[in-house]
Order: sequence, then structure tokens, then C-alpha cells
Amino acid sequence: MLKQKNLIFVGAPGAGKGTISGLMLAKYPMAHISTGDILRDEVKRETPLGREAAVLMKAGKLVPDEVVAGMVRARLAQPDCRNGFILDGFPRTVNQADLLAAALKELNNPLDRVIYFKVDDETLLARLTARQNCRKCGEIYNKLFMPSKVEGICDKCGGELFQRPDDSLETAKSRLEVFYRQTRPLIDYYEKQGLLLTVTETDKERIMALLERELA
Ligand code: ADP
Ligand code: ZN
Repeated sequence: MLKQKNLIFVGAPGAGKGTISGLMLAKYPMAHISTGDILRDEVKRETPLGREAAVLMKAGKLVPDEVVAGMVRARLAQPDCRNGFILDGFPRTVNQADLLAAALKELNNPLDRVIYFKVDDETLLARLTARQNCRKCGEIYNKLFMPSKVEGICDKCGGELFQRPDDSLETAKSRLEVFYRQTRPLIDYYEKQGLLLTVTETDKERIMALLERELA
């Protein structure tokens, strides 16, 4: 069991938040709250929110703070979040962080640690544009760095692999810009609160070992 288990994963797109979330969940009974996954599900189901979000996501822009904060607040109120949670891709602005702080205070379930995955831009762009996701189970692969055993097929479930529409080079570049402009200020915000842990390691097994040591 981890002692610190209420976590935020911050990092630019392609920094490995989703991959490390998957490894953590396989070992620890935590809730995984990915605003990107929740939004993609809304888009797939063609809900009114999904229709609105699709346009912004396609352009690499952020969905309004109140919208994502509302989704996260509802999810955090569910009982499984008492075992610990990973917020993956939320908050992404200081305003979202303030909304989160209010929600957690109300739930009396405070944050333990904010993990910042710091990766250089060249690596990020190389990873994003070669990224593949399983249509069925969501597993993440990378044509260059973490290929599936059979090309285009998920190792875990046999599902078809596809590239997210926002992983094109053009959209990936604007998502990086959005990260530096809107999300990067969160690093100082959480540093000041004494919650920040910066990870510069890129090997996923070593990242896991480091997290288990730091959060124990
Ligand atoms: P990545 O971290 O790889 O960019 P995500 O799956 O976290 O991807 O997010 C994909 C898109 O969903 C973002 O580019 C943005 O449009 C939207 N999104 C996800 N999380 C948030 C958030 N917390 N605030 C605003 N928009 C978000
Ligand atoms: Zn799969």
C-alpha cells in the first residue's frame, strides 16, 4: 500500500501520464480520473458536451474549466476515490486547480502529491506522433518506442490500434504550446504548496520504482 495515494499527474501531452497511470492501477487499487478519456467518451457518445468538446480537442485547445471541473467533482465524490486517485490531465490551469482544491476540501480528501513528468519537446513530439491507442481497451503503444507485438493489433485484447486525431504533428504542436502557456504555471503553484515531485526519468520501470519509493 502507498501512504501517499491522492495524486495529480501533470506533464505535457506525451509525457507518459497515461502510461504510468496504467502501471500504477495494475498494482494499487486507485481510481483513475483522466479528463481526456472522459471527454473522448462524451465525443464518442455524441452527447451535447461531446459535440462542443470535439471541436476544441481537434484544435488542441482546452475545454472550459467549469465543464471539466464539474466532471471531476462528480467523479471524486464516488466512494472508490477514498482508496486513492490519480488525476491524469486535470487540473490544466490554475483556475482548475483552485476549483479542485475547493472540491477536495468539501470531500475532506486532501491531495498528497503532485507528480510532474518533465520531458523535452523533441521527445514529446516524437512520442505523440508515433502514439497508438487500442480502440477496445485503451492500452497505449508507440510505433517507435513501445510497439505492439503484431503491428496494428493490441497485445492485451486483440483490438485494433489507431492514432488519436489530435496526435497529428500540427495539433500536437499546438497542444504543447497550450501546455507551456496554460498548464506550466501549475508547477510553481504546487511547488509553493510543497506538494511537487518532479520526475525527469524516462524509463517507465525506473519511474515506477521512484514513485513507489517516494510515495511509500
Ligand atoms: P494529452 O495529455 O495527451 O494531451 P488528454 O487525453 O489528457 O491528452 O487530453 C486531450 C484533450 O482533451 C486536450 O487537448 C483538451 O482539449 C481536452 N482536455 C483534457 N483534459 C482537460 C482539462 N483538464 N481541461 C481542459 N481540457 C482538457
Ligand atoms: Zn486492447
